[in-house]
Order: sequence, then C-alpha cells, then structure tokens
Amino acid sequence: LMNLTKKLIEIRSMLLSIDQNDALKLPSIVVIGSQSSGKSSVLEAIVGHEFLPKGNNMVTRRPIELTLVHTPTPPGEKPSEYGEFPSLGLGKIHSFSDIQRTLTDMNLAVPASEAVSNDPIDLRIYSPFVPDLTLIDLPGYVQIASLDQPESLKEKIAGLCEKYIREPNIILAVCAADVDLANSPALRASRKVDPLGLRTIGVVTKMDLVPPEEGASILAGNRYPLHLGYVGVVAKAVGKSHSESTGDVVKRRENDFFSTHRNVYGSGSIMVGTDTLRKRLMEVLESSMASSLHGITNAVQLELEEATYQFKVQYNDRRITAESYVAETMDTLKARFQAAKAEFRKPIIREKLKSMLDDKVMDVLEQLYWLDKRAKELGDLAIDTRVKGPEDVDSYWKHKLGAASSLLTKSGVGRDSTLLVADGLRAMIDSIAAGEPFTYHPRASERLISFSHDILRDRIGVAADQVENCIKPYKYEVEVEGREWEAGRERAVGLFEKEVSMCEGKLKDIRKKVGGSRRLGALVGYVQTLDEKEKERKERRLKAVAAEGDGTDDPEDVVPESYRYPAAQILDAKHAMLYTDRITVLKFRIAALKSKRCKAGPENDVFCPEAFLNVVADKLAYTSTMFLNIELLDQFFYEFPREIDSRLLYDLDRKEIVEFARENPIVRRHLDLQDRKDKLEEVMKQLNSLSTLRADPQPKPRRN
Ligand code: GDP
Repeated sequence: LMNLTKKLIEIRSMLLSIDQNDALKLPSIVVIGSQSSGKSSVLEAIVGHEFLPKGNNMVTRRPIELTLVHTPTPPGEKPSEYGEFPSLGLGKIHSFSDIQRTLTDMNLAVPASEAVSNDPIDLRIYSPFVPDLTLIDLPGYVQIASLDQPESLKEKIAGLCEKYIREPNIILAVCAADVDLANSPALRASRKVDPLGLRTIGVVTKMDLVPPEEGASILAGNRYPLHLGYVGVVAKAVGKSHSESTGDVVKRRENDFFSTHRNVYGSGSIMVGTDTLRKRLMEVLESSMASSLHGITNAVQLELEEATYQFKVQYNDRRITAESYVAETMDTLKARFQAAKAEFRKPIIREKLKSMLDDKVMDVLEQLYWLDKRAKELGDLAIDTRVKGPEDVDSYWKHKLGAASSLLTKSGVGRDSTLLVADGLRAMIDSIAAGEPFTYHPRASERLISFSHDILRDRIGVAADQVENCIKPYKYEVEVEGREWEAGRERAVGLFEKEVSMCEGKLKDIRKKVGGSRRLGALVGYVQTLDEKEKERKERRLKAVAAEGDGTDDPEDVVPESYRYPAAQILDAKHAMLYTDRITVLKFRIAALKSKRCKAGPENDVFCPEAFLNVVADKLAYTSTMFLNIELLDQFFYEFPREIDSRLLYDLDRKEIVEFARENPIVRRHLDLQDRKDKLEEVMKQLNSLSTLRADPQPKPRRN
C-alpha cells in the first residue's frame, strides 16, 4: 500500500499545479501550533535535518508545502538527500543549510507591512530517510502581537490556518507539554472545524519538561479526546556536533529520555517518539488518501469532461504551442509586410514624389511670378498677336524662367524625396507594430520599430546623396520634347483647376461662417477701407517726418480695427481676399496655358513657365523614384525580413517564448485550457491505474 501514498502524493502535486480548486484536493497534513510550541522542531525531527528559518522574530511567513519523497538508495550507492523548489528552478539543493537560507530569503521577501502571505512555498525533499508524506507548515499562532507587527496579524494568521485545516486535510496540532492543553490555540482551531477530533492528531512536545506521570496523562487524551490520538515527543535540537547530524542527536536524546521512563511510557496504548509519530502520520495519511481516492477520481473525471467539452467547443480541439504561436506571429508579420510592400511600387512612389514636387512648383510660381508686379504682362504676352515668338519677349521673363527652374532643381529634392519615402516606410512599420497581435506584445513591438528605424537611419544619408547626384544634370539644363510639353501643360491646367476649386471651396466656407456673401462683402469692404486708411496714414507720417523730423500721432490714428466687427471676422475677410486674389491669378494663368501659343510646343516655355516647371518636376520625380527604389526600398525590403528572423525573436529561449505567447490573452486562455485538459488526462490515467492496481493486486497471467 505504500506505493499508493507515493503515487497519490505525486497526483496531489499535479492537481495543485492545475488549480487550487478545493474539489481537486488530496489530503495533506497541516501543521499548526502556537509560536514556540516546538512546531519547527517536530518538522525537523521528521525530516531529520535542520532546514526551517530560525530567529526570534516570526519566521514562517508563508505556508510551506513540504513534500517528502522517499527515495530508496540503489544498492552499492551512497544515500543521497536533497531538496528542490520547483517554482524557483534552482535544481537540486544538497545542503540543508542552503535550503534554510532560501526559505529565510523567501520569507523575508514578504513585505513587513503584510507580515504573512497566503502564497505557499513549494519545497520537496528527497531522501532515503524520509517517509512519503506531505506536510504544510503554517505560521505559528501568535498570542500577543509585538510592536512592529500589524494589529491584524493575529487574525491574518488565524485566517490562513483556517483555510488550510479544512477537509480533507489532516490536522497536526502541536502543543507543548508544559502548557495547559486548554490554552492550546492549535487544539482550539482544530475543534472548530473537526469537533469530534476525527482528523486531528495531537503532538505533545517538550515531554522532558513535565513529570512522566503528568506527561502520560496528557497523552492518554482523556480531557480532549482525539480519534487519531496524541503522540509525545522530545524534539529539542541542541548545538550541532561535528560527528553526528542534528537529526541523530535529537533522536538519541529522545530515545534516552523515553527509555529512562520506560515504566511510564512503555505501556502499549501510549504513543511516544518521533519514529512513532512518523509511522502514525504515514498510516493516517495513507488511509485518508485511500478513502479520498474514490471522491477525487469522480471529481477529476468531472473536471476532465468539462475541460474536454470546453476545448472542443472553444477551440474545436485545435492544439497550439507557444512555439507555433511565435512562428505564426512571424508569418503574419511577414505577410503583412509583403502586403504593405505593394504600397511602395514604383508608380505609387512616383506619384507621391510628383505631388510633393507640384507643391514646390506652386511655391516657386507664387514667389517668382504671382507676386511679381508685371505678372499680368506675361499673361497678355501669351495672347498678344504682335508678339511673334519667344525672341520678342523681354529677357526679364527669360531670366525668370531660368531662376524658377533652378529654384526647383536646387530645392533639396534628394533629401526631401528620401525623407518622404522613409517616412512612408516608418509609418508602415509603425502601423504594423501597432496592430494585432503586437498590441499584446509591447516589447516585441518596440523592438520591431527600433530595428526598422535603425535600418532606415543607416540608409537615408546614402540614398539622399545618390538621388541628389542623379538629378544633378537637371540643375544645368532640361530638355523638353513636344510630347512631354503637351503632357506637362495639361497637368498644369489640371492642377490649377483643382487649386481654383479648392480656393472656391474655402471661400464658400468663409462665406457660410460669417453669415452670407453680403455680410462677407461688407467685411471685405471694411477691411479694404482700413487698409487704405492705413496706407494714407503711413504716407502722411512719412511726409510729416520728412517735414518736421518728428511724427506726433494725430487723433485719427487711434481707430480700433475691431470696432465694428469681431477680430475673428476681420481675419476671415482677409483670408477671403487672399483666396479671391489667388483665384483671379489662377484663372488668368489657366487661360494663358490654354492659349494657342502655349499649346504650340516647348519652344514657348517662356510664356507658360507652369508647363515647363511641371515637366521638370515630372523628370525629377521619375529619376528620384528610380534611385530611391535601388538605394532605399530594395535595401529595406531585403534587410527587414532578415532582421525579423535574426533580431525579433531569434534569441528567445523556451521560457521567453512561452512568456511571449502568454502575453496574448487569447493564446494564454487557449494554452491554459489545453494544459489543464492534458494534466487532468494524465491524472485520470494515473488514478485509473491505481484503482486497477488496488482492485487486482495479483498480476494477470499472461495469455498464450
Ligand atoms: P516553534 O516556534 O513552534 O517552531 O518552536 P521551535 O521548534 O522553534 O521551539 C521553540 C523552543 O522550544 C526552542 O527553543 C526549542 O529548542 C524548544 N523545544 C522544542 N522542542 C522541545 C522539546 O521537546 N524539549 C525542550 N526542552 N525544548 C524544546
């Protein structure tokens, strides 16, 4: 039957790792007692080593789930004893003082303000000298809270103990022989949950401190009867000897004590000694485990059915692993990247660059032509029949055209176009990094952004220089063919018409905002008179300064501009005037562009700089696109997928892969349920093998 306890202890650990659901719990022995009752000494006597935290302050701050695993020594080998903290992943710890230190550290990690924590420490001890047992060490009951402990400490510990002494656990109530049992907090707590004393064992420590007759009467348990009885021990550890282990010293002292008083403690019904206690605990745990077997099997069966059903319903039995999720995420990322790549095909880039250059052209035109006082003259030239050809045009306009072209080609097209495309790439990566599933993986998303920005940063300088280099010829001369000219002219007309309708739209908005065209007309009129007055005033002052050398303000100067209209409306009127002026210019230029002269061909460029500049812009866009494609896009699209492989998840170990996958709540739930189902299946398998083992202790004769 010993095998059964061992198996069930294993099963118990597996169940604990599934969840803390009460229905899925196999019994354990819970050790309770007040501080200094000798609780630690008893546990250490059972294990045969000193390993629990010591100190005058409260030392057990977290429950310790202590699993003892009896490991027989293979013949011819030295016995090996070690401990393990499965949740810490420290491996086998062969020194019990190291175990003690680790436990002390884990206790001290509980903040002083909390004093005790509900989070149990899982400790397993493997040894040929221990029985198969599970024991839970709980913080000792405190009688009087000391000054530096929080008020509620007493209740906190009591609450924690209460949680653990519930069924089906067995209660090991530790009481000192020299303290009246009536005052034992352990017995009092046990009586609350186990009034008949059916699952409580009393351990009476410090038997050496009371006269044998008194000790024997305590152990007889007549005053507070316990079904499982009382065991008396002497478990005091004395200073370490070099030749013997602590356990041996304690054991010998205890043996000496009880054999000295054999006359009293030798009688058959009285239980004394740590060995007796161990045997008793094994018996009790075994029978408790055995009687839990049926119930736990049913409970596990139910949970398994539920988990299986949920797994089917929610995931259609689709299994995943953290690794498969990572691989899938990488595939998604690459697929999304491939899709985004389409946005960077040459025609699209070219169009974007062209539109950027169109804006530049508008600026150049505005600067060099529209603001020119002689602008109207140029428009008239286009339709003036007396002008035979470009040779009749004033060289003023020829210079203008050269200046405009050079302003455009020398405006930093290399840098601007590179930045435009790099910006597009950056935005593309940012949007991928901000989308699912990266919403769940902030660190991976950050990494993705950071290395793609690195690639871009590395390329931008070179790419910009290359582009600038390749458009260099256009800075000196641009040759335009008839076909190119016509296309440029048409595009310029189109652009201007679009600009006109944009300005008209804005005007309409302003009109609506100020309350109709009449109102806007009044506003504009008002602003115009203000402007005129301002002009007159300036002239007058100039004259006055010239005459007197001093320009004293005359009272008429102080006219508050917003006297009749709110300032915001004055501003609207000013904007409206600008739009109106612009529309006039644009319409005028559209007429010129549509004139016979402009249509005639590139030799008339001086009459229609817009068409010419449009062709220049088009050539710049074409050349820039070609070289950006080679210097920036190709490089980026080559490097990026490789960087995903090598920098995004390449150096993750198994643990980090799992962590990464679990960052996604959908995946986490999936993995959790799958894991739960697997574990329950495993537990069920083990439980089934146990019941056949029990039902059929004889091995079946082999058929044929
Ligand atoms: P805990 O606070 O309940 O864990 O109690 P400890 O095991 O630390 O013991 C409290 C004190 O009682 C220590 O000084 C032990 O040495 C002492 N002690 C424990 N068991 C015995 C015993 O059987 N006999 C004697 N005389 N002292 C003991």
